[in-house]
Amino acid sequence: MIEYKNLVEKINNCTNCCLGYKRTKAVPGEGSFSSDIFLTGEAPGYYEDQSGKPFVGRAGQLLDKLLESINLSRKDVYITNLLKCRPPNNRDPLPDEINACGDYLKEQLEMISPKLIVTLGRYPLTRFLPNRTLANSRGRLMKYKNIPLFSVYHPAAGLRNGNIMAILKNDFTKIPEIMERLNVAKNKDIQTDSQLNLF
Ligand code: SF4
Repeated sequence: MIEYKNLVEKINNCTNCCLGYKRTKAVPGEGSFSSDIFLTGEAPGYYEDQSGKPFVGRAGQLLDKLLESINLSRKDVYITNLLKCRPPNNRDPLPDEINACGDYLKEQLEMISPKLIVTLGRYPLTRFLPNRTLANSRGRLMKYKNIPLFSVYHPAAGLRNGNIMAILKNDFTKIPEIMERLNVAKNKDIQTDSQLNLF
C-alpha cells in the first residue's frame, strides 16, 4: 500500500514536535490494513523506541495474551499509539505533542477504516472523546464520529494493579460480542452499547 508507506516515511522523518529529536526510532504502528479492529495506546516506551514496533515490552506481551484470549493475534488487528515517538522517561504525553501527532492517527484511521476503535487507557479515550473519563466510559461502547469506540484500561495499568488486570481481562472478553453485534447491525447509526443492548 503506497499510501501507507508514504505515511510511515513521513512519521519516520517527522520533527513536528520535540520528541522527533530525541527518539531512537519512530513507532508508526503495525498490523492488518484490512482489520476491523483498530487499537491505540498512548505512546511508545523504551522497547518500542528501540525496535520501532508498538507494544513489544511487558505491556505488549500482556496485550498479546489479551488478544489470544479472544482468539485474535496481532495479524488480525491494527495497533498504534497517539504519539509515534517516545516521551522522555515515559512521561505523559503533552497536549502540544498529541496535537502535533494527531494527523497521523487520523490518516491511519482513514486508511484502515475499522469497524471498532479500542482505546487503551485515558489519553487515547480523551483524544477521541474529550468529555469522557475512564471512570465513566471504561468497558462501554461509544462512538467517535460514526465509528464505534470501546474504551479499556491500558495494559501497563493492568500490570501495576491486580484489580485493574481482572477488569481489563473481562473487558476484552466483550470484544467478540461487540464485533458480532456490529456485523449484524451493519447500520453504524445504531452502534452504541445501549442501542445494541450489550452490557
Ligand atoms: S511524536 Fe509525532 S509529531 Fe512528534 S515528532 Fe514524533 S511523529 Fe512527529
